[in-house]
Amino acid sequence: MKTWVYIDHFKGQALAASWEALGLARTLGPVSALVFGVGVETLAAAAFEFGADEVLLAEDPALADFRAEAYASTFSALAREAPPDLVLFPTSSRGRELAAMAAIDLGSGVITDVIALESDGDTIVATRPIYEAKLFEKARCSARPQFITLRGRAFPRPAREGGRSGTLTRVVAQAQALTTVDAFVETDAGVSLGDAGVIVSGGRGVSNNPALQAPAGMDDKQAEIWRAQQGFKLVGELASVLGGAVGASRAAVDAGYVPYAQQVGQTGKVVSPDLYIAAGISGAIQHIVGIRSAKMVVAINKDAEAPIFQVARYGVVGDLFQILPALSAAFKKKLGK
Ligand SMILES: Cc1cc2nc3c(=O)[nH]c(=O)nc-3n(C[C@H](O)[C@H](O)[C@H](O)COP(=O)(O)OP(=O)(O)OC[C@H]3O[C@@H](n4cnc5c(N)ncnc54)[C@H](O)[C@@H]3O)c2cc1C
Repeated sequence: MKTWVYIDHFKGQALAASWEALGLARTLGPVSALVFGVGVETLAAAAFEFGADEVLLAEDPALADFRAEAYASTFSALAREAPPDLVLFPTSSRGRELAAMAAIDLGSGVITDVIALESDGDTIVATRPIYEAKLFEKARCSARPQFITLRGRAFPRPAREGGRSGTLTRVVAQAQALTTVDAFVETDAGVSLGDAGVIVSGGRGVSNNPALQAPAGMDDKQAEIWRAQQGFKLVGELASVLGGAVGASRAAVDAGYVPYAQQVGQTGKVVSPDLYIAAGISGAIQHIVGIRSAKMVVAINKDAEAPIFQVARYGVVGDLFQILPALSAAFKKKLGK
């Protein structure tokens, strides 16, 4: 099966899920990696080291910033010339947008957020969660190429083989972009939730430390946010000791404690870390659907009846303001930090 893998990146920094896709593609047959952008030759070299046999490299000022129109028209022109059987993308906003647009150009369909694959002859049978991950659906695409987006961390990351190379094919960009990118605004979200092996998340309970006296002059709402920020410092400290990312429930986001980029759940991010620590989160179904593919959930909640304990492998019934610093101190000692 001839497979293409779209290497999703931001200014030359690839999403780890791109390498996971390459590792998977390699098990199916020859693999070409698609590397589009400006100054992305090092990314092409990395693609070989992660398993690509060929890199289709489109370097053009028109591809400097991701815009689906320019990327999709470049992609579709290539696919019309020498159609692949299968194209894999990471399930990122860019990956989904590009897959959808290119599939429409080429008269095919897309199966998104796939967590397992098997081949049935030259057709891929893809498994994806549906109905808030209560069911797994097996789907196949009858048109060609088959477009599939893969959930981050659902597939193993291949080992990098330093010095491995392959065929570098330079291809022409089709710069039909109707939009331009004016600027990027950086958030302070730290390690990305999608790539994180460990996530420590806080909920509304993170603001609940009556012992904390907010600075004078704050109204009730400001004092609540200030208290939550002190609580999120404890969440952040544990995440940093474990080399992980900070997540949050929607209640914490809606109350203004942390930005939306950190929200986990049905209307936030779906995450698949090895370890998910939920502090002061009750475990509403809309939160749980975002962590169903976490390998291990640990809950800290002072209410022993909180539903989060039903999905947790380990639970601590207690006050997060005591438990989080104790865990950070214990892990620091254990990890020699
Ligand atoms: C359409 C829709 C989409 C939604 N999407 C999402 C989503 O994407 N993500 C999401 O998270 N929610 C989502 N929600 C909201 C969801 O239903 C819950 O309201 C939300 O998850 C509750 O957040 P929470 O657990 O932080 O707050 P709460 O439910 O208020 O729970 C706070 C918890 O903190 C505990 N606690 C309090 N103080 C302490 C302390 N000192 N130490 C330890 N524990 C303490 C309490 O016992 C309690 O269990 C959605 C809702 C709807 C209707």
